[in-house]
Amino acid sequence: MSERSLRRLEFDRENTFYELLCSSNDISIIQSSQTSDPAWMMALGRYLKKIRVDSHPISSNCLLYQSIERILNENHLITRSLLLILKQCVYLYPDKLVNLSFQRYLSQALLTLKDPYLKYKYVRLLRLIIADIDEHDLRKVLPSTNDILDNYHQMDSSIMIVLENRVLTTGDNQLQSRLNELYQRTLLEYFKSNDFDDDELIDLCQILFQINRNMSLQCLFTIPNLFNDLLHYIDYDVDTMLNWLLTPETGEKFLIFILHMGRVFLEHLGGQRIFSCAHCDTPLTNRNELVSTRFTGATGRAFLFSRVVNTKQSAVQERMMLTGRHFVRDVCCKKCDAKLGWMYEFATEESQRYKEGRVILERALINESDGF
Ligand SMILES: [Zn+2]
Repeated sequence: MSERSLRRLEFDRENTFYELLCSSNDISIIQSSQTSDPAWMMALGRYLKKIRVDSHPISSNCLLYQSIERILNENHLITRSLLLILKQCVYLYPDKLVNLSFQRYLSQALLTLKDPYLKYKYVRLLRLIIADIDEHDLRKVLPSTNDILDNYHQMDSSIMIVLENRVLTTGDNQLQSRLNELYQRTLLEYFKSNDFDDDELIDLCQILFQINRNMSLQCLFTIPNLFNDLLHYIDYDVDTMLNWLLTPETGEKFLIFILHMGRVFLEHLGGQRIFSCAHCDTPLTNRNELVSTRFTGATGRAFLFSRVVNTKQSAVQERMMLTGRHFVRDVCCKKCDAKLGWMYEFATEESQRYKEGRVILERALINESDGF
């Protein structure tokens, strides 16, 4: 057989065995099957995914495209299998989305979909579409801004994604301030009135953080407040986090979220985590100035900072260290005179020159606390 083999996809669902036999020149089974059967639709969705991943030549067969078009026209109910097929179409036929009834499905789902699991799948589809589809086509397959706003009654992650994208692509300031009002009014209500599942919650966290990161949106939330609200809301504990991490559906997403959030959170906190004299609490420096935590002083662990204030320095002394000969000054608290560490005036080894002008504070002699 010169074809790239006969593809065979099988799966077993509720004791019924479905089988699809397709090759790049035979799609008769798609033509003749009961195309409204949800399990059959699911099989088709998985089949499309497989040929898409394998780059199988049948994906460019116009008969296959026509079959999908017909199936999409005949099935009006938004189901999991339909969302799976729509998702494969985004990859397989990105320039034909308008013809493929996408407008009807995406609009309908955006304004009516309530089932949490379908909503979650739909949000993922929207993300894909917004990231991959040309702005011009996007406008054709998604409802108008006014239609969306008219239907916006509570915080809804899918609607938020679409509206944020509109603000970003149009730079519409009026829409932006209207969104801010909506968020402010609906966010707390949303937290209180909904029993989120973990997936939704992680999605929501992601969206809120993305909104927050985008300075042009002048969002009303501040990260520390939002973070606290969320932790409070999800009743943050080790069991919850472990469950999220150990569940395949949420584990990967949660890890990505935590990494993303950690980065944003640290950036933001930089100026707010303050190091002060352990004896008299005089502020000395902050996290932004921290260069390294891998130093050792007389009392044990010591941190290297690029800049420290409110200190007094002794005369220069020559000191032999493991890393070579250095000229240093002792550093003391300006207010209480407590010894805190030392400053590098001059290093004789080229590799150690980065320390010059920087200050070591011994961990045991300083406190770290939240700033303002
Ligand atoms: Zn002090």
